[in-house]
Amino acid sequence: MPDIKKMIQLFNASDKITVFTGAGISVNAGIPDFRSHKGLYSFVQKKYDLPYPEAIFDISYFRENPSPFFDLSKGLVETGVEPTLAHRFVAYLESENKISLVMTQNIDMLHQKAGNKKVVECHGTYETAHCLKCGRSYGFDRIKDELEKGQVPYCECKGVIKPDIVFFGEQLPQVFFDHLYDPPDTNLLLVIGSSLTVMPAASFALNLAKRSISVIVNMAATDYDGYFTHVIHGDADEFCKVIWDGMIVG
Ligand code: NAD
Repeated sequence: MPDIKKMIQLFNASDKITVFTGAGISVNAGIPDFRSHKGLYSFVQKKYDLPYPEAIFDISYFRENPSPFFDLSKGLVETGVEPTLAHRFVAYLESENKISLVMTQNIDMLHQKAGNKKVVECHGTYETAHCLKCGRSYGFDRIKDELEKGQVPYCECKGVIKPDIVFFGEQLPQVFFDHLYDPPDTNLLLVIGSSLTVMPAASFALNLAKRSISVIVNMAATDYDGYFTHVIHGDADEFCKVIWDGMIVG
């Protein structure tokens, strides 16, 4: 763990913080990540009889069999899931006008629930959806009931309504590439809970790490720890609590 006093000073001094988050920030909210040993990939293949674990988020597989994705979605969109302390810390930073941007790979909407507004969801969102057959657009309210029950929502044309989540084999939204090629003004990059293995999303953080002071907080080591100024292997909530307490005390 780096010198905590210095780390608190760093957060106090930074007024253009860009945050990049992955599934690890939501694990303490009860949502499993992908690659940890109790992560989604450890059980979905057997549970849903998939040809390989990633098939649950593969667009070709989804077109043939959308049921596993919707069953899994139940746990992700449950209204009872609350933001973690780390989500609330990021919201605190925005309330103190310290945030340039929050780029998240997550699809659980917990940053917004914690109070962040400057959020880009690079892997899409459940907020909007489209019929795969006729292309009609829908809002979350139209598919909420089916999502909460783990059922497949169908359009009037009988096509499957797919939430605008980015699956393997699909393009990330243009807003991601806008920020990738024209990065936000940043004097501190904070990465929380990502293995940095999913490209091109992770390239956003890796590009910024080359040009600004950077901190990564992740339970396990990543292949890219060498890109960061400060590397913390540990729990996101524990780290954020120490920094948050220190910032408030001054
Ligand atoms: P990942 O599963 O590859 O990596 C998550 C990382 O978080 C791991 O390296 C793990 O060590 C770390 N981690 C686990 N618990 C932690 C904790 N308490 N504190 C700090 N770190 C912790 O996930 P990724 O890098 O986000 O990439 C995979 C994809 O997973 C993304 O595209 C994302 O869309 C998707 N995903 C999202 C959710 C969600 O929305 N909550 C859940 C699962 C997967």
